[in-house]
Amino acid sequence: MDRPICKNSDMDAVSLKNMIRDKAKAHGFSLCHVTRPEIRNIHRGALEYWTNAGMQGEMAWMAEPVRLDRRKDPATMLDGVKSVISLAMRYTPPEHSLDEARSRKHSGVITAYAHGADYHDIMKKQLKALAFELDTLLGVHNQRIFVDTAPVLEHAIAESAGLGWQGKHSLTIQKNLGSWFLLGEIFTTAELEPDQPASNHCGSCSACIDICPTQAIVAPYVVDARRCISYLTIEFDGFIPRDLRPLMGNRIYGCDDCQVICPWNGHAAKEGVQFDDLLTPKGENILPDLVSLLQLDEEAFRIRFRKSPIRRTRRRGLLRNVCIAMGNSGEADFIVVLLDALHDGEPLIRGHAAWALARLTAPVNRQMVLSALAEQADHEKEPAVEQEIQSAINDIRGV
Ligand code: SF4
Ligand code: SF4
Repeated sequence: MDRPICKNSDMDAVSLKNMIRDKAKAHGFSLCHVTRPEIRNIHRGALEYWTNAGMQGEMAWMAEPVRLDRRKDPATMLDGVKSVISLAMRYTPPEHSLDEARSRKHSGVITAYAHGADYHDIMKKQLKALAFELDTLLGVHNQRIFVDTAPVLEHAIAESAGLGWQGKHSLTIQKNLGSWFLLGEIFTTAELEPDQPASNHCGSCSACIDICPTQAIVAPYVVDARRCISYLTIEFDGFIPRDLRPLMGNRIYGCDDCQVICPWNGHAAKEGVQFDDLLTPKGENILPDLVSLLQLDEEAFRIRFRKSPIRRTRRRGLLRNVCIAMGNSGEADFIVVLLDALHDGEPLIRGHAAWALARLTAPVNRQMVLSALAEQADHEKEPAVEQEIQSAINDIRGV
C-alpha cells in the first residue's frame, strides 16, 4: 500500500504529484516538477564566478550580498519551506528565420516572448490561481509564488527539479519542448516528493556559442551580460558601448539567436509541439516598423506597450535601440527621422541618433547632416551627448 508522504494530504506521493501536475496544466503550465529548496554546489559556484567577474553589468542588485545569499539558498525565501514546484509556461517561437529577420531593414526584431502580453502579469495570475487550488489540496501550509523578479535561481531550480537542463546558453531546455518557455515557482512548506534532477544533453554542440552576434557566451554555460543583446537592449539603461552597436543589427528588444539555432528547438519543431500558450502573440510587435516606433511620443508609447513587457525599457530605451537598428540598416531614408530624433528630449535618444546619422551619411547628404550635428552641438547641454555628436562629426569627416 502506498504511503502518504505529504503530512498535509492523505494522498500517496504519486497521486498527489499527478494531481498537482493536472492542475498546473489546467492553468497553462506545460511542465511541473518538484525539488527541495536547495541549490546544487555547481550552480552556487557558477553564480559566484559570474558576479565576481562583474558579468552582471549594471544589474548591481544581483551582486548585493543579501540577494546573492538568497539566490544561493532558496530556504531564505519562505520560513519552513520544504518543497519548490518549478513550472514552465510555453510561448510561441519566432515565426521568422534569423536570415528573414535580419533582411528586414525597415523592421526591428523583438524577442518572441515579448510579442504578446506581459508574461509577468499572466504567469502571476495563473500561479496565484494554482496556489489557491493547492491550498485546498495540501491543507495547512504556507506558500509563495515567484515570477522572474525575486532573487530565485530559477534555471538551477528547474534543473534540480528535473524540468530541464541548463544549456550552454544558460537557458533551460527540455527534450521534447526545447527552450521556448518561461519559468515560475511555487515555494511551499508542504513536503512533496522531489523529482530526479535533469541530465544535460548539450554534448559536444556549440551552436549557440558560435552564433552569438556579440560573443557573449564567453564559455559554455557562462553568458557575460555586458555583451548580451538581451541585457543591453532591455536591462541596460545607458549609452550602449560603441563597439557593440554594429553587432546588434536590427534587434531592438532582446535576442533569440542562441535559442533559434539550438538543435533541441529544431527537434521540438519537427515533433510538431503545439504552442497553445496564454502569451498570445500580438501582430504589431512582430517585426515592427522602425520609423513608426521612432515617432512614438511618451503618451503613444505608454498606450501601445501598456500591457507588454516592452514597457520595461521605457520609451527612451526602446527608441535608443531603434536608432541603433537604423544606423545598422544601411538605409539612407532613415536620415530624415533621425534628424528629428537629434532634438528629442531624451539624451539617450539624441546621442544614439547622432551615432546612427554618422553610419548612414553618404556624400550626397554629408553637408546637410554635418550642419544639423553642428547646430545641435551648439545647444547641447549633456556631456555624453556632446561626445556622441563630436564622434559622429569626426566619423563623417573621417578624422
Ligand atoms: S541572447 Fe543573443 S546576445 Fe545574448 S547570448 Fe544569446 S545569442 Fe548571444
Ligand atoms: S545550441 Fe547546443 S550547446 Fe547550445 S544550448 Fe542548444 S544543445 Fe546546448
